[in-house]
Amino acid sequence: MTQTVALVTGAARGIGLATARLFHAEGRRVVMLDRDGAELGRVAKELEGALPMICDVSRPEEVDAAVRQIVVKCVRLDILVNNAGVADFGPIADTDFSRWRRVMETNLDGVFLMSQACLPLLSRQGGAIVNIASISGLRASTLRVAYGTSKAAVIHLTKQQAAELGEVGIRSNCVCPGPVNTKLALAVHSPEIRAAYHDAIPLNRYGSEQEIAEVIAFLASEKASYVTGQVIASDGGFDSTGVGLP
Ligand code: NAD
Repeated sequence: MTQTVALVTGAARGIGLATARLFHAEGRRVVMLDRDGAELGRVAKELEGALPMICDVSRPEEVDAAVRQIVVKCVRLDILVNNAGVADFGPIADTDFSRWRRVMETNLDGVFLMSQACLPLLSRQGGAIVNIASISGLRASTLRVAYGTSKAAVIHLTKQQAAELGEVGIRSNCVCPGPVNTKLALAVHSPEIRAAYHDAIPLNRYGSEQEIAEVIAFLASEKASYVTGQVIASDGGFDSTGVGLP
């Protein structure tokens, strides 16, 4: 049987690494892409046959070079998970333009660029895109002008992709994680924010990387073959409560 190929961006740690591990366990060949070469080199050794690729998803020339390597080394691509992201907590008045651009370049431009570059490969046999947004893209808050706006745009980009790419056999769906204990969250979640999340989330806890990866893997799989353009919150029920983001 032909081995399918899955590309995961931001795969050196956190949700991306958990997703790469899960795809590997499913027998897929995994392309692990990250801009942090040192960390990537270390973790990629864990997964036999995985292809580590150093690339900044916000740089068009690096994205094109990475996809050219995939053509040469893997020949095909079945799954793209646009997971690489950066966090930023700040109100409008404190968010200068360079800070705004830094967030948009990775969280939004990166998803656009990587998806566009992978289209020729994905459309050869059909494939699945899974974009990682956030509950911050579903709810406005006083603290997340750049991050929340970038994630809301990723949700809409997912719907654009689903509308346009269905005819070439590409599905596109989006996962909106609630808080997960990764380096990204640890950097911006104060003790007060953590406590407020625990109280506000019906399941009263943060999620794990593995729990988010399972939802990503489902949307990427043939089990979801008639699912496209959907936005799934994996957030312990937070979005259903109507409570504001802490
Ligand atoms: P993380 O910081 O642990 O991992 C992110 C990875 O992406 C890192 O390895 C980093 O080097 C890489 N990366 C960042 N910018 C990049 C770029 N321009 N090019 C290539 N690689 C880049 O974060 P995480 O918590 O695992 O987050 C993964 C995704 O999930 C992000 O899109 C994030 O916004 C989203 N998310 C996370 C949470 C959470 O609470 N952790 C909640 C909602 C959404």
